[in-house]
Amino acid sequence: MVRTRFAPSPTGYLHIGGLRTALYAYLLAKKDGGKFILRIEDTDQERYVEGAVEMIIDTLNDTGLVADEGPIVGGDYGPYVQSERKEIYAKYAEELVERGGAYKCFCTKERLDKLRSESEKTGDMFKYDKHCLNLSKEEVQKRIDNGEPYVIRQNIPTTGETSFDDIIFGTIKVDNDTLDDTVLMKSDGMPTYNFANVVDDYLMGITHVVRGTEYLSSSPKYNLLYQGMGWDIPVYIHVPPVMRDATHKLSKRHGDASFDDFIQKGYLKEAIINYIALLGWSPGTNQEIFSLDELIKAFSVKGINKAPAIFDVDKLTWLNAQYIRDLTPEKYNEYADKYYDVALPPGERNYDLLARILQPRTEKFTDIVGQLDFVKELPDYSIDLYTHKKMKTNAEMAKGIIEKAKAVIEELDDFSESCIHDALFDLVKQLELKNGQVLYPIRIALCGKAVTPGGAVEAACLLGKDESVRRLEIAIGMIANA
Ligand code: GLU
Repeated sequence: MVRTRFAPSPTGYLHIGGLRTALYAYLLAKKDGGKFILRIEDTDQERYVEGAVEMIIDTLNDTGLVADEGPIVGGDYGPYVQSERKEIYAKYAEELVERGGAYKCFCTKERLDKLRSESEKTGDMFKYDKHCLNLSKEEVQKRIDNGEPYVIRQNIPTTGETSFDDIIFGTIKVDNDTLDDTVLMKSDGMPTYNFANVVDDYLMGITHVVRGTEYLSSSPKYNLLYQGMGWDIPVYIHVPPVMRDATHKLSKRHGDASFDDFIQKGYLKEAIINYIALLGWSPGTNQEIFSLDELIKAFSVKGINKAPAIFDVDKLTWLNAQYIRDLTPEKYNEYADKYYDVALPPGERNYDLLARILQPRTEKFTDIVGQLDFVKELPDYSIDLYTHKKMKTNAEMAKGIIEKAKAVIEELDDFSESCIHDALFDLVKQLELKNGQVLYPIRIALCGKAVTPGGAVEAACLLGKDESVRRLEIAIGMIANA
């Protein structure tokens, strides 16, 4: 059975690239009826952010990438949090030392710094010089008994080469002498990623490792560890990074790096998932809109690109607009409500009207605030707006029309949308003008801007009778005084 995992570090931040890795791992497992596992990689306690684990789990559950096993749901291969697995790593590290694949190193920071600065001088890549490799067992034990701190280092062969296979990048070979004896266990008893990922992927029965290409170059070392322990090597799928453009990564500072940034910007989670699926993966058809279930069916690692993916926010916005259009008006209003709270004065809301005028024009929910900005306050506007070539209107004509509209509106006892509609269309008839010639100036007077969702009728309805009359009066005064 296929078992994949998502192994984020709880840094308080779910990167879009990380979420995409999770998605691909999820799709790969589900396509095969397999299991998707969440493992929290928190061995670097300095980067740990309170609440980050909950945030990751909530996001996965929210987006539908529900983990079959993980910190809260549990499972047969737990614990799923690395800091709770310290004894496990310690045990396997000792075993690897016994097998010759690793050794204890007592070198001080001073000695290592000296080595480092020497290699800087010669321009060579820094490599630990295996100084502690040949310490006798007795010597090692004596120094441990003396309370000397030590790390455990991987014992990389100095000759030969190590190769590994990646589904996307093919076979990669490296000369062993280019690899450093990296630290596997730190002096505080915590493993490094280099060791923990191998132990956990093995013990958790992970069949396919999906992760970023930043781990590509160290994968030969991991293979040496698997071999050193006599364990089967999983299938590797290293996915290229997600970039803002050819040279820049997505960044926290630009507010374009985390899943949450996009939710805050008014994108729907379904649209984000759909978009990131296509970011670096192609279904091989022209289909662009995919539900999660459809993605499971269509997904294949063969469609993953080798090249870095460029995040195209316009494409995401376009997709988002498709998803928004497909919502029921009720659902639309549910999402929109918090933006209505910002844009509209308190009081009853005509939800039916709001969804009708806004839903077809919303690309992302944050658009709503700008689209309704005229409601709370009439914008400062110039009477030049009344001049519209196509409608053949100008301020002078507009004044007459607005005066009549004001009279008509003042007469209305029932200020429902249909009554406003009938009253204004009667006025059009009576004036023997085109709809636009009458309704355009009224809308400008009501909204103080050229582009608004909905027309004069909807604007009047949103504003209410008193405010509509007040704004029509303002317009009349403005034109008269111009
Ligand atoms: N904790 C690593 C990260 O967040 C996981 C890498 C992996 O998937 O193995 O980058």
